[in-house]
Formats: sequence, structure tokens, C-alpha cells
Amino acid sequence: MNEDYTVKIIVDNALCLGCGTCLAVCNANAITLVESQSGYLVPEINYEKCVFCKKCFNNCPSIKIHSIDKIDFIGKIKKAYIARSTDSILYQNGQSGGVVTSIVKYLLDTGKCDTALVTKNIAGDKIACPIITKNYADLFSTQGSIYCPVPLNTQLKTKAYTQSENPVIVGLPCHFHGISNQKARNERSPLLLGLFCAGVYSYKMIDYLCDYAIKKDPGFVFNGISFRDKSRYGWPGDVSLFGKDNSVIRIPAQRRHELKKVFMQPRCYLCFDQLNVLADLSFGDPYGLSDDKNGASIVLARTERGYKILQEAINADRLEAKEVNVNDVIHGQTIRSRKIPEFYRNMKIWQELHLPLFDYKRFYSTSILYDKKNNYTKIRRDILHSIHFFLAKSTSEASLIAKLKFQKEKIRQFFFLPIFLIKKILFKVRNILNYK
Ligand SMILES: Cc1cc2nc3c(=O)[nH]c(=O)nc-3n(C[C@H](O)[C@H](O)[C@H](O)COP(=O)(O)OP(=O)(O)OC[C@H]3O[C@@H](n4cnc5c(N)ncnc54)[C@H](O)[C@@H]3O)c2cc1C
Ligand code: SF4
Ligand code: SF4
Ligand code: SF4
Repeated sequence: MNEDYTVKIIVDNALCLGCGTCLAVCNANAITLVESQSGYLVPEINYEKCVFCKKCFNNCPSIKIHSIDKIDFIGKIKKAYIARSTDSILYQNGQSGGVVTSIVKYLLDTGKCDTALVTKNIAGDKIACPIITKNYADLFSTQGSIYCPVPLNTQLKTKAYTQSENPVIVGLPCHFHGISNQKARNERSPLLLGLFCAGVYSYKMIDYLCDYAIKKDPGFVFNGISFRDKSRYGWPGDVSLFGKDNSVIRIPAQRRHELKKVFMQPRCYLCFDQLNVLADLSFGDPYGLSDDKNGASIVLARTERGYKILQEAINADRLEAKEVNVNDVIHGQTIRSRKIPEFYRNMKIWQELHLPLFDYKRFYSTSILYDKKNNYTKIRRDILHSIHFFLAKSTSEASLIAKLKFQKEKIRQFFFLPIFLIKKILFKVRNILNYK
């Protein structure tokens, strides 16, 4: 038995993204995706069925990207737009401007696509579910962003997908790297509607938020979550937990941000593709371009096919869109000022910790300078924590690791916030004195 031939090695090195590509490519049906002790979705291999063909390993997007030969943080962009759905229900219910779902609906209504692979929250179930649908009611319940791993690519081997002639897929960058690895894109050429992505968190984060809800309402029973509910204070939205008795517990966005470091998926620290470079159309929030409380979506038209579909949807009055400067979008997403230095810094940390990068190593460049002062030690600790948490052997160990990290972050904030404020005031005073 050679486990090195399977994706077990990916899981053992805390590199799994829970994307489900390995399950889709395994012809021996030896893989199932299960929730780990620390709340991630990971492949479990049935060694009685496995023939050690290495296909799962060779197609895993966490370590292989067949479709690109260099890191490209921005990708090809024909044009950029700020847009919103003209369907008032999809607009209000959408995460940003409801544009993704309006385009999916347009494609299904007009027969340009015959099925859509999208993700929905099922009432009462904390794990999000990828579905293949043609149904408007389904589309409505897929809206909103799910900040936890979604096993989207498991669907690529289903009958509904393989029998579809012209599918559209909505997914994160790592989903599309998995799709391009397994060549589904070449064989079937699905239309790829890609979300920007800066990371996802363990499903244990939802348990943690539920504990908070139970403190507020001891009778609370989880029925659903909106990570960024626009209904109270508008865009960008804060967390709402929905109870079985129709109760709603609101949690400030600040708390979700505090929990990021506790539950961040380790592999996200190594992700370069925030802007979804393999998509036909990429979508995100309009940071730096609009603070409309009703929300709006940024759309990047990357391919000729994507551009054409976007224009058709605009001409069919499904969307309102205004062209914006591509550089303003890149600036708003802080790609050059934050993402690029962070990526190389994190690669360096990974190397220093002697953690394997497999094929990804070829993207690491020693010639690129990273700033050792740029939170290096702190992020090194955060990365080590995320790996430690990911690899927890039991739920109680995972809870303990999370609790300790949360407490450490609180203590850090307690001491560092006043110091940070004093520094800021001194900096302002110095500027005023210099100006005079
Ligand atoms: C994990 C995550 C991180 C993100 N990070 C950023 C960011 O850093 N910067 C930024 O500008 N925008 C980010 N976005 C994108 C943003 O939140 C909106 O999804 C985007 O602006 C589209 O909004 P909309 O109203 O047009 O889409 P909607 O009409 O609300 O449709 C949303 C679509 O996204 C799909 N979806 C939701 N969650 C997932 C998921 N986890 N995996 C696969 N499909 C999913 C749904 O199935 C649905 O089809 C992120 C989204 C996600 C899910
Ligand atoms: S293919 Fe996806 S789910 Fe499978 S091991 Fe790789 S990252 Fe994890
Ligand atoms: S049969 Fe091949 S693809 Fe399936 S688990 Fe084994 S090595 Fe991976
Ligand atoms: S940050 Fe990258 S690796 Fe992490 S979920 Fe998003 S696309 Fe996938």
C-alpha cells in the first residue's frame, strides 16, 4: 500500500481545500468527502477500492496547476464594470449586487446554458451543498457568500453534470483550478462565473457562532446562517444566525473578523488567485469604488465568451452596468499593496517551516523581496496555528486549540490596541508639527 500515491498526503500536510476534485477524478470510487475533527471537508480513502493510480494526487489543485506556468495575480481582463441586477428580488437578496445569479438566470431562461452548478445552504444543515439545477426557486436560495469550504467539484462526475451539454458553473478560484486540472473545461467547456476570494474558514466557526447565539438565547437551535446579511445595516452586511423557531441572532461583522485567524483554512495563506483568473467572468465587492448600502458587484470580463454574455445580459435589461477603470478595481482589492507581498511572505514562511509545497514550489521565487517587518513573526504564528488546528486528532483537541488562539488574540488586542492608538496619535501630532 503506497499512500503517497493518494491525496492522503495532501490532507496529512494540511493542504486540502475540500474542493472535491479528487473524488470526481477517482474512477475506482474510492474517495468520499467527510468532515474532519477540525471542521474541514477532507477526502477519506477506501484502500480496498483504491488502485493507487495517483490520479487524485495529480489533479489536486492545492499542489498542481496545469493551466498556468507562472503566477499571475491579475490575469487577462478585457473590461471591468460595476453592476447591479435589475430584478429587485435578486438584487436585494444578492451578496453584492445580485449580478451572478441574474446572469445564471438569464443563461437558463434563454437556453444559452442548460444547467447551473451552484451552491446552496440547506435549512438546518451547516455544510453548504453544491447542486445542479435549472430551477429559479433554487437559484434564489443559492444567493449570498458562504465563507466555508464547498465541495463543488464533487458534482463533476454526476450524471446531471456529465449529461449536460452546456453547463455554467459558479465557483471560487481553487474550484476552477481543479476543473482546469481535470480537463472538464476542455471536454465540456463549461462557462465559468468566478467569485473573488480571500479565504474560507472551518465549519467549526459556525459551531463557535452558535455557542455565542446560545448564550444570548439558551433555546436557540441552528437552522441557517448568512455570513453577510445585508438586511439590517445594508452592504457589506454582518452575520445572522437563523433559529428553528424563526429567531434571528445578529453577530457584528467585527466578531467574524476576530474569528478569521482562529479558523482560516491553512492553504488559503498560500493562495495567489484572489481575482479568479481562470473564470470567463469574475465577480466581487466594489471595495474602493462604491459604498452604496444596497450593494453592487464588480464584474471583470476576462474572455471573449464572458464579455459577449455580459453584454447580452445588459442588452436584455437583466443588469445595469457602468464601465470602470481596471486599475481602480485592482487597487480596491489591494492586490499590489497587500496580496502580492503577502503571498511571497507566506511562501517563505512555508519554506522556513520545512512544509512541503510539492509542484507549487516552482512558483516560489527567491528573487522576489518580501518584507520581514511585514508582520512576519505574527503571521508565522498564525500559519502554524492554522496547521495545528487543521490536523487536530479529536474535536476536543480542535476546540481547545481554537479557544487558546481566541484568548491569545483577545489579550493581544487588549494590550496592542492602546499602543496602536498612542502611536497613531503621535504620528498625527508629528505630521501637524512638521506641517507648521
Ligand atoms: C469565500 C468567499 C470569499 C470572497 N472574498 C471576496 C473578496 O475578498 N473580495 C471581494 O470583492 N469579493 C469576495 N467574494 C465575492 C463576493 O462576496 C460576492 O460573492 C460577489 O461579489 C458576487 O455577488 P453577487 O451579489 O453578484 O452574487 P449572488 O447573486 O449573491 O450569488 C452568489 C453565488 O455565489 C455562490 N457561492 C457562494 N459561496 C460560495 C462558495 N463558498 N463556493 C462556491 N460558490 C459559492 C452561490 O452559489 C451563488 O451562485 C467572496 C465570496 C466568497 C464565497
Ligand atoms: S482535490 Fe481538493 S478535496 Fe481532494 S485533496 Fe486536493 S484539495 Fe483536497
Ligand atoms: S484509485 Fe487512484 S484516484 Fe482513486 S484514491 Fe486511489 S490513487 Fe486516488
Ligand atoms: S483563498 Fe484561494 S485557496 Fe482559499 S478558498 Fe479562496 S480560492 Fe480557495
